[in-house]
Amino acid sequence: MTDARMPIWYHPLYTDGIDEEARFPRERYRILRERLRALEAEGIVSIELPDPVDPQVLKIAHEDDYVDRFLGGGLTRAEIRRIGLQPWTDSFVERTLRIMGGSVSALEHVLTHGGLSGNLAGGTHHSHRGFGSGYCVFNDLSVCALLARDRHGCSRVVVLDLDVHQGDGTATILAGEEGVVTISVHCAQNFPFRKTFSDHDIAVESGVGDDEYLSFVDDAMALVEQYEPELLLFQAGVDGLAQDALGRLELSREGMRYRNKRVFDYVLDNEVPCVVFMGGGYSKPIDHTVDSLFDLFRGAANANSLLP
Ligand SMILES: [Zn+2]
Repeated sequence: MTDARMPIWYHPLYTDGIDEEARFPRERYRILRERLRALEAEGIVSIELPDPVDPQVLKIAHEDDYVDRFLGGGLTRAEIRRIGLQPWTDSFVERTLRIMGGSVSALEHVLTHGGLSGNLAGGTHHSHRGFGSGYCVFNDLSVCALLARDRHGCSRVVVLDLDVHQGDGTATILAGEEGVVTISVHCAQNFPFRKTFSDHDIAVESGVGDDEYLSFVDDAMALVEQYEPELLLFQAGVDGLAQDALGRLELSREGMRYRNKRVFDYVLDNEVPCVVFMGGGYSKPIDHTVDSLFDLFRGAANANSLLP
């Protein structure tokens, strides 16, 4: 039987490993973790501390040289600028390894026990095989997809990316990988401006609201159903919210909840193991983002508690 409590991996370094002066809204992790105490009290969520990932594991999806240079402080200034979480802190490497560890632990949990799990960070879909980009150092979605296939024997893995930005790094890393399918629903007029090719790209025009957006999500879910995945990796960024500073879509909090419900209903109906990766969210103030992320993890935890 599935544990009624959905585990979510979180570490204080998710916030503290980013410099206070960085433009990135680092407090979203800490605030969200506090909000999740309500779900712990309800008995539907447990918070787990991630260990740093074994760096060798990263090399399943990344060039050895890139992994080694990142760990050794050997990235060039241009490479660091492209990642964008500047100024870097002493604990940035450990933060990165713990986030990747959280995603891998969340993966191993659902492959062992079924149900859902989550990481209170990650969904780092702009990271490519040999370089980082757009706040993403390593690509946890790709690492998890390839680990699931190569070390856990999953023959059909779907990466469903509903963040408002295209999962460009995931698309290139996983291109041509047998048994792994990438689906990205994103805003056409948004970063990355040079799009790559997922197995399925659904590009939404900027300014689109709930109804039209949800019809695209239905299209994406029809594709998911067609593949009958043994594992679903869900990049659940909430930066499509109307209040998001980087989004360019006009989704409401309620629309975002419906979006997630469509995914979790599928997971429930088909009892597919599913990992939820937090992804983007940059509203100003950050409250709108945190509200939607709270809804996301509540929706996932509710679904998990309903599984047999
Ligand atoms: Zn995003």
